[in-house]
Amino acid sequence: MTALKLENVNKSFGSVHVLKDINLTVEDGEFVVFVGPSGCGKSTLLRVIAGLEDASSGTVAIGGDVVNTVPPAKRGIAMVFQSYALYPHLNVKDNMGLGLKQEGQAKPVVEERVTKASKMLDLDKYLTRRPAELSGGQRQRVAIGRAIVREPKLFLFDEPLSNLDAALRMNTRVEIAALHRTLSASMIYVTHDQIEAMTLADKIVVLRDGRIEQVGSPLELYNNPGNRFVAGFLGSPS
Ligand code: ADP
Ligand code: MG
Repeated sequence: MTALKLENVNKSFGSVHVLKDINLTVEDGEFVVFVGPSGCGKSTLLRVIAGLEDASSGTVAIGGDVVNTVPPAKRGIAMVFQSYALYPHLNVKDNMGLGLKQEGQAKPVVEERVTKASKMLDLDKYLTRRPAELSGGQRQRVAIGRAIVREPKLFLFDEPLSNLDAALRMNTRVEIAALHRTLSASMIYVTHDQIEAMTLADKIVVLRDGRIEQVGSPLELYNNPGNRFVAGFLGSPS
């Protein structure tokens, strides 16, 4: 089964053509990493997949269904942002459960999923704390928990670790890899960090100026970067 299929996706903001003929397939359970310079369209591409922006043309299919006109909450995806976007007045438990409640899930289901996710993420001792009473790493885990409880088939991560210090980044990267194995969901993960890309990805997508420059496994791109641009991001030193 195919988790995601993008066909000839374009996105313009006014006269600015940001995404150019994007064709991409993500298989079930695959971990795909997007890399590329700032402004090349990584976040816009995630937002188009999530339905937070409409594609100007082309088709977005999730789990085999074209979702171009399906609202974000009904696409079977969950997105984790760089800025955690937690509600300051809600405790950890309610931050994690809010999306489910809004989906209309019954209270016991919300409770059960929040309990399970909080154990998975080592947050079970912090359920009654508010975001201000948590460390940066804990806040990011709450944001990840909020995505997990929705049990999406496809997770979208937009530079989720870039506000964390180096040690925490490494820990959280290992946690995300473990989650990927446990949940057997598909993940698309945007990062600037070469180590994150090389260690997490089944497949790396290099974006440049709104186009896909090269797609391959970490090893393929490292050993055979198609050009200097890709080599600059991921290639072996030459
Ligand atoms: P990245 O995440 O790779 O840094 P973005 O997807 O955020 O890049 O942005 C790609 C380009 O699209 C940038 O030139 C940015 O200014 C432009 N852009 C993104 N969102 C909007 C918007 N809502 N309106 C106009 N331009 C936008
Ligand atoms: Mg971005």
